[in-house]
Amino acid sequence: MLEDKNPELTPISKYGEFGLIKHLTEKFSFENSSTEISIGDDAAVINPEGQKVVLTTDILAEGVHFNLGYVPLKHLGYKAVVVNLSDIAAMNATPTQILISLAISNRFPVEALEEIYAGIALACKHYKVDLVGGDTTSSTSGLVMSITAIGLENSENIVRRNTAKENDLLVVTGDLGGAYAGLQILEREHSVYLANPNMQPEMEGYDYILERQLKPEARTDIKKTLKDLDVLPTSMIDVSDGLSSEILHLSDQSKVGFRLYEEKIPIDSLTISTAEELNLNPVMCALSGGEDYELLFTISPNDFEKIKNHPDFTIIGHAVDIEQGNYLVARGSNELVALNAQGWDAFLNK
Ligand code: ADP
Ligand code: MG
Repeated sequence: MLEDKNPELTPISKYGEFGLIKHLTEKFSFENSSTEISIGDDAAVINPEGQKVVLTTDILAEGVHFNLGYVPLKHLGYKAVVVNLSDIAAMNATPTQILISLAISNRFPVEALEEIYAGIALACKHYKVDLVGGDTTSSTSGLVMSITAIGLENSENIVRRNTAKENDLLVVTGDLGGAYAGLQILEREHSVYLANPNMQPEMEGYDYILERQLKPEARTDIKKTLKDLDVLPTSMIDVSDGLSSEILHLSDQSKVGFRLYEEKIPIDSLTISTAEELNLNPVMCALSGGEDYELLFTISPNDFEKIKNHPDFTIIGHAVDIEQGNYLVARGSNELVALNAQGWDAFLNK
């Protein structure tokens, strides 16, 4: 794809560093009144207007976090923004600005960067965040992107990982395991392609899980949904590494244990059928797959009625005394299976 020697493609050298930044960013407009000074000066200036400033950053490296063999560049730009906004959403804050730093190898033509920035622009528009700066340099190996996201929020709304209490209910948004199942399909079809480039990839019917992997969304909508229900979570985290690992983070930070009910874990029917086709356990996909970017949070048991029938939420367990540890309660048998960072290890062997 990128290696194609196409004479129509523009080398980065044609623009030079400053011209390139201008070319890539000139179409961006601004949505937030808190953005005072943006791209073009030595640094950006934001005005938090009395709110707390919430900051997060992530690095995505080619070959480690993504494979350009099957990830379209536009999706990569979009997803790179989304994973950061998900961290802001997990603090129950509102994302407002991002900064993007790129290390680019010279095998990338300008058109490739335009694709990445088209994805970034789409995410900025969708989530109403402003691109206010970044840095650009060359790389002798692959593409590396670092994204920093800024959010603003009133102090009393910010939700941390370390404030869950015993008996709180454990709740998750959306469904889990889909992004991992989608990745397995992409990898399967990519290896088929590598073995025989004339083979057509078989991606039909997998739309939902492919989208979960390639174009995930950050649950920035949940803050408002919860506010409208008059619920403030007692702790929160986003599901980037898999349900099991996130539960253990809440446990570790809040000093409580958890019971997670296998039968309650929300898994889409396409995730289940794909996992079965690939000889994977669908529950394992949810526990250890990661990249679903849903929100996992705890609420006071007093808020049960407000949440219980809401389509965005599933109550999947509850917090217990830390001495009781973290366990999955198996479907049917009620057998307790210890959760660990690779929650499926024990699970597969049972
Ligand atoms: P400096 O030499 O002070 O680091 P740069 O020339 O790197 O400044 O950047 C000039 C302006 O362009 C700054 O406002 C910077 O934030 C912005 N910028 C640089 N690279 C990018 C990028 N990849 N995406 C968005 N903005 C960028
Ligand atoms: Mg710079």
